[in-house]
Amino acid sequence: MMYIEDKVEEIIQVARAARRTGKDVSEDVEIKKANSLSERVSALFGNEDIGKRISFWLEKGMDKHTTAFKVAGEIASNMMGRDINETAELAVRVGLAIITDAVVSAPVEGISKVVVKKAGGRSYLSVYYNGPIRTAGGTEGAISVLIADYVRQKLGLQEFKPGKEIVSRYLEEVELYRRYAHLQYNASGEEIKKVVENLPVEVTGPPTEEEEVSSNRDIPSIETNRIRGGAVLVINDCIAQKAKKLAKLVDEISSKLGDFDTSSWNWLHFIGRKEEKKEDIKDLCPVIVPSKKFMEDAVVGRPILSYPSRPGGFRLRYGHARDTGLASVGVSPATMIILDEFLAVGTQVRIERPGKSAVVMPVDSIEGPVVRLRDGSVVRVKSAEEAKKLADKVEKILFLGDVLIGFGEFLENNHKLIPSPWVEEWWAEMLRAKGVDVDPWADYSFDEAMKLSIKYDVPIHPRWTYFWHDITVDELSSLIEAVRKADSSDGRIFLEGVKEILEKLCIPHRVENGKAVVEGDDAKALLASLSGMEKFDRRKYGNLSTMEAINDISAFRIMPKAIYYIGMRVGRPEKAKQRKMKPPVNLLFPVGNLRGRSRMISRANGAVTVEVALRKCPSCGKVTVRYFCCGSRTVPILFCSKCGREVRDRCTQHPDAEVVCYRSTMLDMRELIKEAFESLGQEYDISGLKGVIGLTSKDKVPEPLERGY
Ligand SMILES: [Zn+2]
Ligand SMILES: [Zn+2]
Repeated sequence: MMYIEDKVEEIIQVARAARRTGKDVSEDVEIKKANSLSERVSALFGNEDIGKRISFWLEKGMDKHTTAFKVAGEIASNMMGRDINETAELAVRVGLAIITDAVVSAPVEGISKVVVKKAGGRSYLSVYYNGPIRTAGGTEGAISVLIADYVRQKLGLQEFKPGKEIVSRYLEEVELYRRYAHLQYNASGEEIKKVVENLPVEVTGPPTEEEEVSSNRDIPSIETNRIRGGAVLVINDCIAQKAKKLAKLVDEISSKLGDFDTSSWNWLHFIGRKEEKKEDIKDLCPVIVPSKKFMEDAVVGRPILSYPSRPGGFRLRYGHARDTGLASVGVSPATMIILDEFLAVGTQVRIERPGKSAVVMPVDSIEGPVVRLRDGSVVRVKSAEEAKKLADKVEKILFLGDVLIGFGEFLENNHKLIPSPWVEEWWAEMLRAKGVDVDPWADYSFDEAMKLSIKYDVPIHPRWTYFWHDITVDELSSLIEAVRKADSSDGRIFLEGVKEILEKLCIPHRVENGKAVVEGDDAKALLASLSGMEKFDRRKYGNLSTMEAINDISAFRIMPKAIYYIGMRVGRPEKAKQRKMKPPVNLLFPVGNLRGRSRMISRANGAVTVEVALRKCPSCGKVTVRYFCCGSRTVPILFCSKCGREVRDRCTQHPDAEVVCYRSTMLDMRELIKEAFESLGQEYDISGLKGVIGLTSKDKVPEPLERGY
């Protein structure tokens, strides 16, 4: 940790020194280092008082959600903005930042503005949501509306009461959006109606799609006929989808706050599908019902690797490797190769539990796959090398191997911990409890394992434990019958008619003259597991589970090898790929509309007319886009947005017009390029360098040309 911190500090110092020269847009490094939640929120809003309030409530033992409401409420009560609109906006953004740990873009980009509107003598609060509200997550997006309602109450505003036409507009808009973009939740029209009729604050937003509604057009209070994607997401994927959870949260938060009137949220109890019943408790053990959810939206060409909880699929294994962590899970590199490399390093997968998706990383210390080859033999594949040799000969995968999932993933997803399978590290811990230190990752022959098991009364080592729970007692009975009849005089067991059972158990074997041959330590382990088979009586064992039956006849204790299998399919990794500007841009510098829509800086070698922020050199008085002139920093110039005249703080002719720092202006590109070369002390090839047609940022501040080389 110290190393990382030191290095980060070193890099920041270099960046800071470079910025201090005054040649770039800003004179300092904009990104602030922030460690705690309150520091991050302070940095995000450039306001340390807010951070202090967050620390104050958190130190009082308040949870994150309640803290978000408390702080948002304080911002509203103390009117911390310049006016009521700014106050409301700050309060909602800060609240959302707190509940999302200030690590996603939603608080900044997911809300475009918050304003107080008036209609029919009432003042109500209106929140403009944008697409990036997605990054907050469904529940958090929904809570942001709750926060807005709390802020509304603190500001003494009335409830939003939408008319019939506004409700119909929402209904049409959600359906229309569903046709053009992805929604997680398929809410019914009834649900949407219930939500929008009852929301105490308006959920709206700027247009995000080109498509327009066709029936419910030109509603006076709604600025656009185009789809408001952010608003649709909040209504459908946040509030409707999470209604049940939200209803619970409303009760919790209001009881902790004491001054939050939640009477306008009672309707939440009446919408939303019941959450999938996942867990039950039976015999003190959670009963985990297979969940098909991860299979939704599967696409052609992306394989489903294992069905929900089906034997042979991935075995849940708890733990962390150096390359796994938050939403990244481990599988054996042998599994990756056996699956024709449909799983590679970083492949995005959808998993049955505990979360929704993850990326896959190779971990070679966990169990690999067990496969049947075309000659009928069954092999445990232990390494990538072995897998490469065998890959062409594989006829069937009998077991996919482990999926390594960290405990934190269960915690993060609020999923009950499910019992661990029988693994080496557990076995080693049991021995340690008896005062014996063993290396869990070493190879143990069956004889060594057996000795340890008998001497210290621990279950047999996982390597010599087979998947007994995956066969029935009837199958166990057939296996015993076959072993009894088999010739095993030379340490090899020749079995007839039970190959399928051996495959379910994943006992390695070969096929010789139509018989399955189990040999070596596996033969010893099989015989020892069945050592008391003489007393096996099918009728007597009728009511037992296979695990109980095998433990009754075995020479040692046998633990369940797998218990839970995790379903998995390959996701859509392209969804997570780098977002590129289309077409690619090298430099945010405007070149206007050149011939053929080319944005080549080199082609703009005459004058271009663009809207751009202008500055003035305090020494020579030159007006320029450059940040540095005559050895010192240039200063920004302000213009009246109406007449374009240069002004000090407002225009004498147009005192109401907005003052901006840019103006449509003619730039001499040849001169600017020359100046840039001079400041770099050298000429460069700029033939491929691309700028942009125009700057879309609010202040239209260009990057220095030097950045492009
Ligand atoms: Zn100058
Ligand atoms: Zn003016």
